[in-house]
Amino acid sequence: MKYDKKKYKIWDWKNPVVLHWIINPGLVINELILGQTIPKVMLIEHEGKKPFYKRSFIPCPHCGELHSGLKYSAQNKTVLKNWFGFYCDNCKGIIPVQRNLTSLILLAITFPIWGWFMKSMKQNWLKKQPERFKNINLETPEEKNTTKKWLKMGLFWGLFMYVAMTFIFPFIGQEEITRMGMLIGVPIWLTAGLSFGYFMKIWMNKKGNKLKA
Ligand SMILES: [Zn+2]
Repeated sequence: MKYDKKKYKIWDWKNPVVLHWIINPGLVINELILGQTIPKVMLIEHEGKKPFYKRSFIPCPHCGELHSGLKYSAQNKTVLKNWFGFYCDNCKGIIPVQRNLTSLILLAITFPIWGWFMKSMKQNWLKKQPERFKNINLETPEEKNTTKKWLKMGLFWGLFMYVAMTFIFPFIGQEEITRMGMLIGVPIWLTAGLSFGYFMKIWMNKKGNKLKA
């Protein structure tokens, strides 16, 4: 598909945010367990004073529809459970997503386990999608309290990562869970969680540039 580069900035795997999604192994939890994902291609409108989420669009490669980024958002409860991709409520197709590298490796290794169920799982998932996208609200969420919201999200993510990295991963890898590891993990994941929340807030509220003549 061809996109209007004058109007939109095109985000694909070369964009730092998308690259981060590919590289950060921690995001395997977001992707495989929570079903959070990002599209292979995203279009960001250059012009405008609108915040980021109002300027971001997800194009459907099957029907060409430009979906507002808000269609797949926390306020519509559609940001998670997108294990197979983003559902296009226009053509009922699935918009391809960028996979995290660690997820891909994990999926490849465990393929003999889930490969058999893949088709029926996908069909079941697809069946549930129209219902999820029936009442989509594309209005800007209330601006107030966003700091609190992102802070909460960052802290929650940090806590999640702390538990995963300190207890669950060593347990799976049959490594020892040490008191030292438990202690060190607190400041690391607290900082990581807070900065994650902070960057998400800035990123989501970022204003567009003025269109160059
Ligand atoms: Zn479509």
